[in-house]
Amino acid sequence: MIEPRWHSTKDGGVSSACRLCFRGCKIPEGGSGACGARMYSHGVFSSPHLGRFVSVAVDPIEKKPLRRWRPGTKILSLGGLHCNMRCPFCQNHVIAHPDGPVREREITPRGLAEAAKSSSLRSVAYTYNEPSLQAEYIFAASPILRAEGIATVMVTNGMFGEEVCGEAVGAVDAMNVDVKAFDADSYRRLGGSLDAVKRNVRRLVNGGVHIELTNLVVPGISDSPDGFADMIDWIAKVSPDIPLHISRYFPAYRYDKPPTDISSIEKFLDIARGRLKYVYAGNI
Ligand code: SF4
Repeated sequence: MIEPRWHSTKDGGVSSACRLCFRGCKIPEGGSGACGARMYSHGVFSSPHLGRFVSVAVDPIEKKPLRRWRPGTKILSLGGLHCNMRCPFCQNHVIAHPDGPVREREITPRGLAEAAKSSSLRSVAYTYNEPSLQAEYIFAASPILRAEGIATVMVTNGMFGEEVCGEAVGAVDAMNVDVKAFDADSYRRLGGSLDAVKRNVRRLVNGGVHIELTNLVVPGISDSPDGFADMIDWIAKVSPDIPLHISRYFPAYRYDKPPTDISSIEKFLDIARGRLKYVYAGNI
């Protein structure tokens, strides 16, 4: 049983504060955090989905996407329930924002290591929904996986709280971080924080985690050439060696604007290739 961490009681036990992500939710008695995954009831903080997954698949590593870390290999990929952001164009809303009960399967860290080994896989990805909601499990499983020569990957929005980010440096081998937009207002509307993702990406890169970034170009949200150029400037200053995946949006969930113009993607590829060494187009 993996217990939730990074929380403390407030107001003499009347509520609880969660520090897993940048939101820092204050959860009242009988309530849950903004992610829907963590709750406080009868004085007990709980995270009932820890170690429970709804999707298990073997994917090419390029599908995460990671292009400059173990290319050509396959990766055991796990997804669970819930998310701490609210993107109206979410491609995985069925599990990220479930309408009702979804059948979950418990997988112990030891069971995960055995599953990867039995398929001759050398890496495990926490992906599909927001994996930081499984941070306690990921950090507990990482040394068990490493002892078997299996690496840990997260495909994440990067909204970790500071303590979680610090532990990720030691526990996670590679990440793809989704940079949703490059202005604070857009991020706020999506339920995220540009400052948090910038701070965390820099810390992870400096800590030696292999980082690749994805930017989904969504019309009306993240298709401003000025904002894109600002993002490229920031990435280049962190490191021009960070691979960037520029991805084309298609309508999904509650967002029905037409797909991103190919001409916008081509323009953004040109801007990015002027400053960064590794730039890839996705969903084209
Ligand atoms: S993980 Fe984030 S959104 Fe969920 S309860 Fe904790 S602070 Fe709130």
